Amino acid sequence: MSSSCRIAIVGGGLAGLAAAHALKTFGMKTEVFETAPALGEIGAAVNVSPQAVKALQAIGVGDKVAAVGTTSPGIYTRNMQTGEFLEFNDRHKAAARYGAPYYTFHRADLLDALVSGLDRSAIYLGHRLTGMEERSDRIVLAFANGAEVEAEIVIGADGVRSVVRQVLYGDENPTYTGQMVWRSLLNGGDVPEEVLEPGGRIQWVGPGCHLLAYYIRGKKLVNIVTQEDTDKWVEEGWSTRGYPDEMRLSFPNPEPRLEKLLSLVTECSKWGLFTRPLTQNWGRGRIQLIGDAAHAMLPNAGQGACQAFEDAYILGRWLEACRDPAEAFANFRRIRVPRVHGVQRLSISNARFKHMRDAAAQKESIDAGKSSVHGNSDWVWGYDLIGEWNKEPSVPTAYAA
Ligand SMILES: Cc1cc2nc3c(=O)[nH]c(=O)nc-3n(C[C@H](O)[C@H](O)[C@H](O)COP(=O)(O)OP(=O)(O)OC[C@H]3O[C@@H](n4cnc5c(N)ncnc54)[C@H](O)[C@@H]3O)c2cc1C
Repeated sequence: MSSSCRIAIVGGGLAGLAAAHALKTFGMKTEVFETAPALGEIGAAVNVSPQAVKALQAIGVGDKVAAVGTTSPGIYTRNMQTGEFLEFNDRHKAAARYGAPYYTFHRADLLDALVSGLDRSAIYLGHRLTGMEERSDRIVLAFANGAEVEAEIVIGADGVRSVVRQVLYGDENPTYTGQMVWRSLLNGGDVPEEVLEPGGRIQWVGPGCHLLAYYIRGKKLVNIVTQEDTDKWVEEGWSTRGYPDEMRLSFPNPEPRLEKLLSLVTECSKWGLFTRPLTQNWGRGRIQLIGDAAHAMLPNAGQGACQAFEDAYILGRWLEACRDPAEAFANFRRIRVPRVHGVQRLSISNARFKHMRDAAAQKESIDAGKSSVHGNSDWVWGYDLIGEWNKEPSVPTAYAA
């Protein structure tokens, strides 16, 4: 089987579907090739900060995501063992300052919102890319099911283990970060409200680990997601089964509210976090990587998907502005790489600060206004991508190259 299309997007995750919307917004048709037999997101929740909400609005899905997002009033941070209050990150204030809400989504709801409005007949499921050949004026994509597709442009949105990346740059396997994650979902009604603080969101930080708990789907579910430094290798993937007692052991001597929350866990999963070093290798010629395929990062700034939404909008703008796709992609990388590298550095520095072993020094630094468990997010959340899509973004010195 062979067919041709102008723009092929490989991967129907958050990045790929956002790109399909963005290109549609700017008058282009795309075809999406997804390995899975059905579109869907595993994993529970994802937070989307104001600048990325603006990107979603600008690519035509603002109302759809607003209908399934929960706005976040803010998040309290406490010491995991003493329960001591450390800081409150006020997200209502942030929304007012940056002109768009801060949303929390169930991942499946966000993906559904992104699928709606796209031409389903141009989304090819069960298409696992296995190879790609660059010819002078086109790219030939080969899929495991035997299909061959010719495209003028390829957007690689196939995640951290991207095959598009592999074809371009050789076998660049992501590496285990030495950090693992536990995840659990509880019924909202089972969790005493005081555990989650007013507003329904709390984060506990402790030596070498942290744990977040918050409502999603209104107050129907409570999402628990953790992160810990560990030498034990843990495989990637959202769905490796874990054992609640093993999860509880990761958080010794918890303060009473955390102890209560952990006692409610009856099912959990675990996985290892994989990334790769910061790289300029984001594509060449008519092939462009976006999302985790370009820039997988630690989750500690809550920005992996947000950066993919920024990618989608800015990619659409450049493809609309330039006649030559290779020129559009080169411009896209010129604008995006410094900003995303800054965000990747912020994620690493947040992880270090959250996991500090000296709790007194951590608190002192927060009280003195020198640090926050969220790092300096002003430049991330305050980014005006609509007005500045073609301008070199400013990145604070602490996170610049
Ligand atoms: C614990 C945790 C918490 C997080 N929290 C947040 C948060 O709060 N906010 C935030 O912004 N980000 C967050 N992130 C990051 C975010 O989840 C990712 O950055 C985002 O999901 C990446 O989307 P993607 O579409 O680039 O990649 P993926 O979600 O990996 O999607 C890739 C798609 O490509 C498909 N695919 C793969 N290989 C092929 C192939 N060969 N052929 C065809 N299709 C293929 C896959 O099936 C998949 O559908 C978090 C991450 C973790 C691990």
